[in-house]
Amino acid sequence: MTVSDGMKRFERKFERIPRLGLTRLPTPLEPLKRLSAHLGGPMIWVKREDCTGFGFGGNKLRKLDYVLTEAGDADTLVSGGVVQSNSQRQVAAAAAKLGLDCHLVVYHGRLTPPSEIYEKTGNVALNRLFGATLHDLPWTGDRNRAIEVLAAKLTAQGRKPYIVPYGVSNGLGAVGYASTALEIAQQSSELGFAPDAIVHCSGSGATQAGLAVGASVCLPDSRVVGIDIDAEPDRVRGDVIAYSREAAAFLDEPFDEACIEVVAGHAGPAYGVPHKATIDVIKLMGRLEALALDPVYSGKGLAGLIALIEDGRWNKTDHIVFIHTGGEPALFAYLDALETDTGAPPASADS
Ligand SMILES: *Cc1c(COP(=O)(O)O)cnc(C)c1O
Repeated sequence: MTVSDGMKRFERKFERIPRLGLTRLPTPLEPLKRLSAHLGGPMIWVKREDCTGFGFGGNKLRKLDYVLTEAGDADTLVSGGVVQSNSQRQVAAAAAKLGLDCHLVVYHGRLTPPSEIYEKTGNVALNRLFGATLHDLPWTGDRNRAIEVLAAKLTAQGRKPYIVPYGVSNGLGAVGYASTALEIAQQSSELGFAPDAIVHCSGSGATQAGLAVGASVCLPDSRVVGIDIDAEPDRVRGDVIAYSREAAAFLDEPFDEACIEVVAGHAGPAYGVPHKATIDVIKLMGRLEALALDPVYSGKGLAGLIALIEDGRWNKTDHIVFIHTGGEPALFAYLDALETDTGAPPASADS
């Protein structure tokens, strides 16, 4: 079977999968000419998943577009994340668009705030702007338990909550994200290149799961490489495999664990703590491409990609697609960390 057969078959499959249509798809695929020249190759492209449409965009909106088709007659979305979670900001934005209430568990203590503004600006300010009700709770290490307890409380009060899991990661979220691989296949074919690799940062796992399952159907020669930004590569890999299995079963496609690659060593000292390589790459991309990356996800992801390039992983003439998964609002919460050249604030004692 040729690549385009796989692509067409997948296209037809996706036409039958329900989605809300809130997001602006396809997102652009653009060349990063100045970065590619700066590195002396390979050719790097960026898939602009930060441009998914509303509420400052990001990869979670694409997952939500599919996941929220299951919300039924819910009147409230319930989710959670750390103070600067992009995921919960996108849940809050989707709730506003859909006319639903939104209750969010805000976890404190997964990381030590880099400075005072961390608690006030960026995503947490947008959560309030989009009308969400915030519930401050301590981080316990269990991502979803407090969200479930909050949903049970709301049910007892007569509400109809729909739980969006931490990071909008579940099987259906991964199914939705497989559409990104399809878009990359279509767009790269129109632009006249075949990606040798698709590289992105990986956290709660459904993004990589969707890309891996999707690429194995319509971009079989492209390696999907997830950069662990949680400093928990084994947990990330396990979750990616679990969501990949669910997505492959839903899509009725084969799935081989060997296509899951999670690269460790680029997360810095801990989740949410930027290190020098991340801060340097954020500044570099601002000057070269006017592309704003964030210190928690996309900055670490691109720092990881550049390190792999410098290790000689690819040829100078290869084509690499970097996925900008979003997260720009968090940049403002970390401005103090960006001011220093030495980079990282002290690592958290409790993470
Ligand atoms: C959530 C997030 C990711 C990681 O996606 P997962 O599906 O959780 O692995 C990457 N980048 C940004 C900006 C995010 O908000």
